[in-house]
Amino acid sequence: MIRACCIGWPIHHVRSPLIHGFWLAAYGIEGAYTREPVEPGEAAAFLRSLADRGFAGCNVTIPHKEAAFAAMDEVDPGAVAVGAVNTVWHEGGRLIGMNSDVTGFLLNLDDQVPGWDRETGHAVVLGAGGAARGIVHGLKSRGVETITLANRSFSKAEAIAAGDPRRIRPAAWSALPALLPHADLLVNTTSLGMSGQPPLDLSLDGLKGDAIVSDIVYVPLVTSLLDDARQRGHRTAEGLGMLLHQAVPGFRKWFGVTPEVTPELHAHLAADIQGH
Ligand code: NAP
Repeated sequence: MIRACCIGWPIHHVRSPLIHGFWLAAYGIEGAYTREPVEPGEAAAFLRSLADRGFAGCNVTIPHKEAAFAAMDEVDPGAVAVGAVNTVWHEGGRLIGMNSDVTGFLLNLDDQVPGWDRETGHAVVLGAGGAARGIVHGLKSRGVETITLANRSFSKAEAIAAGDPRRIRPAAWSALPALLPHADLLVNTTSLGMSGQPPLDLSLDGLKGDAIVSDIVYVPLVTSLLDDARQRGHRTAEGLGMLLHQAVPGFRKWFGVTPEVTPELHAHLAADIQGH
């Protein structure tokens, strides 16, 4: 029996057991994926004892992603870019970590808007938090030439842009109407529009007709940004797909099968999200 888990605090709301449980059943693998509550400050000790506890690896969620990064013996470039790890496994006594949000975001766009990277010279990214850091790294890795980061707190956008001033430009939130006509891809990485959070109050007037719109918020499944974009005829990529794709590398490492993100898996998670 292969075991993996997700650590966090609190942990009851985490949806990854639904994803991994679906795949374990679909591929007939004798395995288990559980939620493990780990208190703040205890993540490094838990991770160092993963093998002793019988786990092949784990996902890491709030508030442990930065502590997990610090506890790793080896990390992938995406994790370095974000300074946070969300997927962990061990090899020969060494802890290895990656940030699968980066690949999840890219693979979801590949799935929902094939060829998006060939037509994206300029991306406008809303937000400058942890998710934005990973997405900026991912966009650069796919050759996006210019990335403008608009954030409520300008200093946070400036801090990310300082890492590559030639390609990343910070912008004030108030500059968005002037920026939208130049965007090939618009990505919301803020928590605005998420259920329980303030709405994302952004007019898409001025956005080019062939621009692509992506929202990484997945509760609700179709945010008002995506709804507005679809009504205007834009191609879109929604946040649930990113969540599903970010689960793939962990499952492959722990259970030895590369799982597929299928419409059935999407429907399984969508039903859970709509039921809450
Ligand atoms: P974070 O580090 O806390 O960053 C939050 C971002 O939202 C910051 O840019 C923040 O701006 C902005 N923001 C929050 N409240 C705002 C407000 N009232 N007005 C304007 N801006 C506001 O969070 P994160 O980890 O990057 O996650 C952001 C969102 O992405 C969350 O909703 C999360 O659920 C979602 N997410 C989805 C996936 C997926 O798989 N689909 C993966 C990761 C994250 P300031 O800098 O000014 O505070």
